[in-house]
Formats: sequence, structure tokens, C-alpha cells
Amino acid sequence: MKVIETCAEMAALCAAAQRPLGLVPTMGALHDGHLSLVRQARADNETLAASIFVNPSQFGPNEDFAKYPRSFERDLQLLEEEGADLVFAPPPEEVYPEGFDTWIEPGSVAEGMEGEARPGHFRGVATVVAKLFTITRPDRAYFGQKDGQQVAVIRKMNADLNLGVEVVTMPTMREPDGLALSSRNAYLTPDEREAAPAVYRALCAAEDVWRRGERDAGRIRRAAHNILGRETLVDAVDYVGIVDAETMRPLATTPEDRPVMIAVAVRVGAVRLIDNLVLE
Ligand code: AMP
Repeated sequence: MKVIETCAEMAALCAAAQRPLGLVPTMGALHDGHLSLVRQARADNETLAASIFVNPSQFGPNEDFAKYPRSFERDLQLLEEEGADLVFAPPPEEVYPEGFDTWIEPGSVAEGMEGEARPGHFRGVATVVAKLFTITRPDRAYFGQKDGQQVAVIRKMNADLNLGVEVVTMPTMREPDGLALSSRNAYLTPDEREAAPAVYRALCAAEDVWRRGERDAGRIRRAAHNILGRETLVDAVDYVGIVDAETMRPLATTPEDRPVMIAVAVRVGAVRLIDNLVLE
């Protein structure tokens, strides 16, 4: 396994690598959710490339960029065990050199939910993913459904800009109690950790009323809010979104012929948790 810090070397190694090449972009602090992507990419491709880059441009000024968990040596060990060939781990100034001034601005797919709660977030995500795609020219790239709107933004960018990458979406990996694996879970206190599965229970309650025939988004949303409202350690509900799973367009009624995503973002103490379910 080779660890590469410069864009030029990564590009050269990817250009010379056996195809197909699968790319798994990450911000490190790897857990089983990340590794499920890595394993699928390993199985599907001749060359497995992963990136570890805590992308400053996708964090807002009051967000946790400086405090984002970092465990680089352990991450490398895990990637080596999973059979990664190339690990791209550039310093920020390699990706954003002095004078960097070109951005990818996603459209309406990035407007609501995370886009609204975190202005500029998806511009940072789309730009760094476009750069990673250009540097590595992957045949396939792997993303988790955990960040459902992120996948939608990347799929739309990939289609709109003819990037030609096969975008593979992997299911959300969860703890036994339903809490979606996330690098940020490490910051939950024991009490908050106990409260956090309310997010998944809220999603399941919403899914349940939908399965029983409810199609009114307001009433589906209320089922989720009821669960979240009962959990005193859930300090704020940023949103419960009922949206078209592809376009992220908010829905008043759920259609029968297109997948729907229910997405939740809450704050539990200092930690912001997001999760979603797709109804098909
Ligand atoms: P991150 O390091 O948070 O940027 O995540 C890197 C990739 O792993 C993204 O495509 C995430 O959606 C994915 N990921 C994060 N958590 C999970 C999870 N619990 N299950 C599946 N994929 C995940």
C-alpha cells in the first residue's frame, strides 16, 4: 500500500494503475461504515484507492473542523488490512494552494436540509469530490447512504458535468441499537450515547406510518417529531425532511412511483447527528 501526499503523484499512480479503479473518499477516523465501502470497492475493482482528507472547505466557520476526530496511523493500518493499494492523504495546502479560486456550486439538490443548515457545505463537498475524481479518474466511487443528500449532490454533479464515474451507494451501517455509525459518535457522553438511537427510532416510526398507508408528509413528519420530542437529551431538531430521494425536492405527499427519503438532523449536546431512511 502506497501513501501519497501530492496530487501529481496520485494522478500519475492512478493513470498507471490496473483498471477498474475504485475510489473511496473519506475524512478518516475510519469505522465499519467506511470499511463497508472499502470492502465493496476492493471486491469490485483491480485497484483500490482511498482518500483521507478532512476537507476544510466543507466546514462552516463555527463547525468542528479543528476538533474533527483524526486517527491517521490507525486508519492506514485498517486500509492496509482491507487491501488498499493507494491512499491519498494530502495536506490542505496541496488541495487548496494559495490563490485557489474555482468552486463547484451545486443547484437545488443542495438547497434544503443539510444545505440550509450548513451554508456552503455542499459547495465544499462537490468541489473536493470533483478534484478527487479528476486526480484519480476512478471507474467507480463509493459513498454511504448515511449522508443521503451528499450522495444526491455527487450523483447530480457527476451527471451534469459528464464526469463518467459509476457512483455506488452503500447502505448505512448501524450499531445494534440502530445508531448510524459516525466518526462524531465518539463525542457523545454516555448519557447522550444512550439517547442518540432516538434518531433511528424516529425514522422507523415515520417509515411505519408510511407503510401503514399514510402519504401526507406532514403526518409522516409528525410521527418522527413525536419520538424525538420525548427524548430530553435531543436538544434541537434541525429538520425532519420528507424529500424525493433523487432530487431532494421537499414533498407534500409521498408518490407511489419514486423513492422517498426521510432525513433527520438533531443536536445532542455538542454533537450534530444526521440519518435517513429511503422508502421504496
Ligand atoms: P466521512 O469520512 O464522514 O466523509 O465519510 C466517508 C464516506 O463514508 C461517506 O461516503 C459516508 O457517507 C460514508 N459513511 C459514513 N458513515 C457511514 C455509515 N454508518 N454507513 C455507511 N457509510 C458511511
